[in-house]
Amino acid sequence: MLQRHIPTYVARGNGRSYGDAGIGAGVTLDMRRFDRMTGFDETSGLLTVEAGVLLADLIDRFLPRGFFPAVVPGTRFVTIGGMIAADVHGKNHHWVGGFGDHVEALKLMFPSGQTVRCSRDENSDLFKATIGGMGLTGTIVEATIRLIKVETGWMRQNTVRAENILSAVQLLTANEGASYAVAWVDCLSRGNALGRSLVYLGEHVSSDALQERKPGAPIYPNTRGRGIAVPLDAPGFLLNRHSIRAFNALRYARARTKDELVSWQSYFFPLDGLDQWNRLYGRRGFLQYQFVLPHQTASRVLPEIMGEIATTRDPSFLAVLKTLGKGGGQLSFPMPGVTLALDFPVSDSIFSLLDRLDRLVVEGGGRLYLAKDARQRPETFEAGYPNLSVFRQQRRAIGAEGRLASMLSKRIAV
Ligand SMILES: Cc1cc2nc3c(=O)[nH]c(=O)nc-3n(C[C@H](O)[C@H](O)[C@H](O)COP(=O)(O)OP(=O)(O)OC[C@H]3O[C@@H](n4cnc5c(N)ncnc54)[C@H](O)[C@@H]3O)c2cc1C
Repeated sequence: MLQRHIPTYVARGNGRSYGDAGIGAGVTLDMRRFDRMTGFDETSGLLTVEAGVLLADLIDRFLPRGFFPAVVPGTRFVTIGGMIAADVHGKNHHWVGGFGDHVEALKLMFPSGQTVRCSRDENSDLFKATIGGMGLTGTIVEATIRLIKVETGWMRQNTVRAENILSAVQLLTANEGASYAVAWVDCLSRGNALGRSLVYLGEHVSSDALQERKPGAPIYPNTRGRGIAVPLDAPGFLLNRHSIRAFNALRYARARTKDELVSWQSYFFPLDGLDQWNRLYGRRGFLQYQFVLPHQTASRVLPEIMGEIATTRDPSFLAVLKTLGKGGGQLSFPMPGVTLALDFPVSDSIFSLLDRLDRLVVEGGGRLYLAKDARQRPETFEAGYPNLSVFRQQRRAIGAEGRLASMLSKRIAV
């Protein structure tokens, strides 16, 4: 009786999803107070934390002890619960998988208040549904995750130029032996230079290599602190196709093949250095759009998508290309293929452009990332996620249907 009166809800981490995933259809449960780190085994690297622990705090605490998370997204201002729920991928998905692949066990709370443990051996179906399940199978209360050992907080970064989108894909694929690989793509170049890119390859630096290349440098550079602030509501004209074209041309022209040592912060989290960078887009804001295409169709569909984007009046300022491996959970975004993440300023024409891109992605057998989505239709979602019916069954089995709901789950009819 009591339960019937509890409104539908979803958990929220640090709100770094770009769309409506972390907004409850009724109530939103703020998890940030659950921020204790409760156990660590130095030998195995297994760390048990409450779900609201911030990745930034985890790194601050464990990097100086020689440990780093096996997978990190492009910002460190996310919670462990949010990373598991979105099964976030890093620049190393091609060989280590997503964040979920490094979770040993979870403590999950159902809408009934019942708490269960799940792992690959215990309640394994529930575990698979929760990794990448966007908070729709229960609230993650606690997680045990595996950290990797590192000798320093420095990264060896190799920069390589790619003359167009297909050579960027080839370079990323050819460098799958690199620990980390990502490409910055110029979305406004045209013709043979369509999608020219800078590919950044990365390796953790050993203490011997650091001594050799940067004698006397601190082993764990502490680059925390607030970044450069963007003034509230930067004028909308700051980012237009002319300024972006000029910026991209300069960035590409200046880049040389380089082999340098950079700090962990600058390699993994460059946007964190610009405080509230989202304000650059002005009052109307922006939409993020990330898709993945299987390798088989990527070389045909990617140039088509880049062609659509290059002609739009609403260019993407930030475009990031990576390769992905197999996803770990039923609703995990990754599939073996190529992913492109784009930011678009909100404008009158942006929604029809994105509808056209959706069609190309679906035709190419790809899917959109739920953590970056604010607008896809149920049909697009359904087409991209073949395990959806198993996921829905799982929700029914634990009494989550009608009780755990976000604005996202309502919009895409999970
Ligand atoms: C600058 C930037 C760069 C990014 N780069 C990447 C990237 O490289 N790779 C990538 O994969 N993602 C990336 N992201 C997306 C980000 O990693 C994910 O959206 C992540 O889920 C955000 O975590 P959060 O704690 O802010 O969660 P929120 O945004 O608050 O929530 C995300 C989802 O997790 C659920 N959730 C949160 N906490 C819990 C909990 N305790 N139990 C159950 N469900 C919960 C919510 O219901 C929601 O569905 C980036 C985001 C930004 C802003």
